[in-house]
Amino acid sequence: MLVKWEGIVIRSVDYGESSKVVTLYTREYGKVGVMAKGAKKPRSRLAAVSQLFTHGYYLCKRGTGTGMPELTQGDILHSFKDLRQDLMLTAYSAYMAEMLDRLTEEREPNPYLFQLLFHTLQYLDEGKDAEILCRIFESKMLVLAGIRPHVESCISCGAEGEPYTFSITQGGLLCQRCTHTDPYSFHILPATWKLLRLFLLFPLERLGEIEVKTSTRNQLRLLLHRYLDQHIDLHLKSRNFLEQMERLEFSDGFDKA
Ligand SMILES: [Zn+2]
Repeated sequence: MLVKWEGIVIRSVDYGESSKVVTLYTREYGKVGVMAKGAKKPRSRLAAVSQLFTHGYYLCKRGTGTGMPELTQGDILHSFKDLRQDLMLTAYSAYMAEMLDRLTEEREPNPYLFQLLFHTLQYLDEGKDAEILCRIFESKMLVLAGIRPHVESCISCGAEGEPYTFSITQGGLLCQRCTHTDPYSFHILPATWKLLRLFLLFPLERLGEIEVKTSTRNQLRLLLHRYLDQHIDLHLKSRNFLEQMERLEFSDGFDKA
């Protein structure tokens, strides 16, 4: 049986001499691995469509059982070439693709996630703020993983009002009276929790341009990474790469200043 999916390549690994196993995140079917026979050969008609981050229509032959579908044809909608050529963009895209891969099961449709991935890659490709896009993506992944932090009021007593601290282990804001319940809770900038609340809540496509100060960016990154490490330790290989790239970029900017 032939099926046609709209998908984005989130992983592509060599298989044997000439083939590739391509993991697609599809709009209709969720995550699915497909066999792309001969795709390693540069002149194969499957070579371009099986490249990482490519968005397109994928025509696949499915057997009757649970075996891996075979990719027979692909039509590229967006090649997102810059995401493979600019190292910084590659680092961000690879990190987000790996995170999505690790947090999803095969063949569980989630059109919302497809939209999120598509818009994120599209905005990255358009040159929008990669760091902020990555933070939004991470925030949405917390919701997906069922570990959404509580940033509406104190997680312990429900009180509203500054100043807050943030508790990684309890998973949210603590008011002044409750901050002692976690000796490791740390002061959180108002801009940080307000942005995080926005990121958790808003559809990505409705977010406009946002100006974010360096101090807020740094705290958001630290908070989200510590939060992810505490609650779902994914050990993403791509995160080391991203962190190396970020250090390079930041030290580069520092030299120029
Ligand atoms: Zn409280």
